[in-house]
Order: sequence, then structure tokens, then C-alpha cells
Amino acid sequence: MLDADFFRRWMTATAASVDREAERLTALDSPIGDADHGSNLQRGFHAVRDALDKEPPGTPGGVLTLAGRRLIATVGGASGPLYGTLLRRAGKALGDAAEVSAEQLAEALRTGVDAVMTLGGAAPGDKTMIDALVPAVGALGESFAAARAAAEEGAVATTPLQARKGRASYVGERSIGHQDPGATSSALLIAALAEAAGE
Ligand code: ADP
Ligand code: MG
Ligand code: MG
Repeated sequence: MLDADFFRRWMTATAASVDREAERLTALDSPIGDADHGSNLQRGFHAVRDALDKEPPGTPGGVLTLAGRRLIATVGGASGPLYGTLLRRAGKALGDAAEVSAEQLAEALRTGVDAVMTLGGAAPGDKTMIDALVPAVGALGESFAAARAAAEEGAVATTPLQARKGRASYVGERSIGHQDPGATSSALLIAALAEAAGE
């Protein structure tokens, strides 16, 4: 079973990974966006880490809803409300249970990813974070490690696509040949989940 401490470790590992990869995320956002994805997520996940340090919630659902609220409040770019919705909706789906199973987490994240698709209007193949998140939640039933591999593959597979949503869609065909920054950060989020699980 997964407790609040597991979810805090997931968020802390994500913040550390975003710190390590911030320059790369911003570089990916440079040819097809506005070169701020790394700094957007650093600001957001620093705020998440600080909030969880200051008043650690006692339940998995509490950790994810707080993290989602902080992302929405601190990240100006498109990715803030989208990641915020992912985590907040997943947290709401977990309710106030003190511990949840891996299957409950997978189900909650599926609900969260559906909410991101509703909010942003993106479907798989539109060259967004959805291209990493959908395969990741699909593989979560198997293992955290399988989800990490699926997210990474999904992120890499955005390279030949033309963006149909978000800022990258403004550059039209020139978005082809570049890996999507949001799909790349989604792969980091799922890799941090596998890390928290020790996989
Ligand atoms: P902004 O584009 O506002 O500067 P970021 O650079 O932080 O925001 O985030 C860009 C990422 O957000 C993109 O690479 C893409 O993965 C994701 N994104 C943008 N719009 C959407 C959308 N409508 N649905 C899903 N993901 C999106
Ligand atoms: Mg940007
Ligand atoms: Mg921006």
C-alpha cells in the first residue's frame, strides 16, 4: 500500500528531477515555444515542495490536491493548469484514504489524464504531454517501471509529429522534428514515480 509519505517522495523526486533537467526542458521549448518550460516547472515544483514541507498532508489524496493547487497558483504557462488539474483530480479521486493501492493510484491518474484532455482539448498524437501520459497510465497496471518506459517512449515519439495544440501549434510544420517539452517533463514525472516506488 502507498501512504502519504510515498506521495511526498514522488513530488520531491519530481522537483529534484525538474531541477536537474530544467535547462533541457527550456531548450526543447525554444524552437517550438517560448523557452520557459524548465523555469515554469521549477517555479511550480519548488512551490509544491515548500508547501509539502511546511504542512505535510496526512493522506495521498491530500498530497496530490495540494501539489495540484500550488502548480495552478504559481505556473503562468499552459503547463501549470494542465499539470495542476492532473494532480488535483487524481488527488480528489483518492479521497481521504490513509493508504491506497497501486491499482487505485493508476485509476486516479487515469481520471486525472482524462481531465487534462477535457481541459486542454488535446488527444494522443497532438504532440503534447498527453502523448507521454496516456501510454504511462496504460502501463501502470503492469508496473511503475513499465509506466516509466512507456512515458519515455511516448515523449520520444512526439519528435516527428506536428503540434496541434498549445504554443507549438503556432509554428505549424516547423514543429516537426522537435521533441515536445511537456511530453518530456511528463516522462520525468512518471520516472520520479518509479523512483519513489524503488523501481
Ligand atoms: P507555455 O506554452 O504556455 O509557455 P509551457 O512551456 O510551460 O507553457 O508548457 C508547454 C507544454 O504544455 C507543451 O510542450 C505541451 O506538452 C503542453 N501543452 C500545451 N498546450 C496543451 C494542451 N492544450 N493540452 C495538453 N498539453 C498542452
Ligand atoms: Mg513555454
Ligand atoms: Mg510561456
